[in-house]
Amino acid sequence: MSDVFADLVGQDEAVVELRRAAAAAAAVLRAGAAALVAAGPVSRDASAADDAVTGAVDPSTGMTHAWIFTGPPGSGRSVAARAFAAALQCVHGTGCGECPGCHTTMGGTNADVRMVVPEGLSIGVGEMRALVLRAASTPSGGRWQVVVIEDADRLTEAAGNALLKAIEEPPPRTVFLLCAPSTHPDDISVTIRSRCRVVPLRQPPADAVAEVLVRRDGIALDVAQWAAAAAQGHVGRARRLARDPEARKRREAVLAVPRRLTGVGAAFDAASALIEAAEAEAEASVTEADATERAALETALGAGGTGRGAAGAMRGAAGQLKELEKRQKSRATRAQRDALDRALVDLAGFYRDALTMALSAPVAPVHTDTAALAGAGAQKWDAEGSLRRLEAVLACRAAIEANVKPRIAVEAMMLALWKG
Ligand SMILES: [Zn+2]
Repeated sequence: MSDVFADLVGQDEAVVELRRAAAAAAAVLRAGAAALVAAGPVSRDASAADDAVTGAVDPSTGMTHAWIFTGPPGSGRSVAARAFAAALQCVHGTGCGECPGCHTTMGGTNADVRMVVPEGLSIGVGEMRALVLRAASTPSGGRWQVVVIEDADRLTEAAGNALLKAIEEPPPRTVFLLCAPSTHPDDISVTIRSRCRVVPLRQPPADAVAEVLVRRDGIALDVAQWAAAAAQGHVGRARRLARDPEARKRREAVLAVPRRLTGVGAAFDAASALIEAAEAEAEASVTEADATERAALETALGAGGTGRGAAGAMRGAAGQLKELEKRQKSRATRAQRDALDRALVDLAGFYRDALTMALSAPVAPVHTDTAALAGAGAQKWDAEGSLRRLEAVLACRAAIEANVKPRIAVEAMMLALWKG
């Protein structure tokens, strides 16, 4: 395994900052208990909070106990958080990738690193309280207790408050790493944000994404370059497009939409097709996990037992199974939304290509394979019509984000795309 930051694509500045912090953290550990007592208050007082606001890195406070990684989807927020967690557990340096600390963290088996990946639409207060409680224990490896919260923007308000309390009065060896799209109050509460240092990640350039696909995944250069451009800087999406024929097929179906919009009926048909494709994609992604989980829970609960107490056990089991079903339903809803959102991002890329062509802007198209079609659109719609269509797609995303029923939002979008 190479350096733990190797897969963090196109984020050089962030890596420098995180390495410096990991070095400072290691120094704290080396200095031992006395230094720890001295360093505790420093990371908690107002000057540290000020640093977080201005983004200034003062070597004396190079390490702090709460961080937020922000950036657009696919920029590598959780990759950065996991790599930093490994750097904190690294026994050789600041993320060598070779030692047991790095290895176990990257492999997801380090006892002192917890990754919280919400499966439903939000992270509940029960889950958060349990997590905060466990995070307060002494690190078994003698270094740091690290809690990584992916999609911290999906915390419920109550869960956010439970987390805030822990961040305000952190146990001396506990580090919280939050990932969120931005530090906008819609994503992360102002009070949590004020206690954290922010590490902004940018959308990685297509070249950097292509490079990592070739180096890490062994993908042919031309395929990697096409996928990196089509994925618009989203590393995970680029890898899927390069490797999964089903993902490519779904993308092609989405990019066929502009061609199909020939009338009102066709617009409604296209809306149905898009929604149903998202549902099918989501179902494929969760069905297997659902069945596995259910079987595991039934086994754990001793389903089918006939001994004394089995009936009572089964009554309790029914409640747990119901709880599992609730969680699975919530996960399915989220998978559907994510699939639909990916489709809308692809579609937005198409109209963005039409717009840049109408303006003769010197930028490469997002979708090289539909560039000719986008060019024809540019001629027909001109810049203004292309922009209106692009805005219709973005408005649809915003509406779904604001809880408008997806079918209604998508139908409105298709009509707008047809009429222009
Ligand atoms: Zn290491």
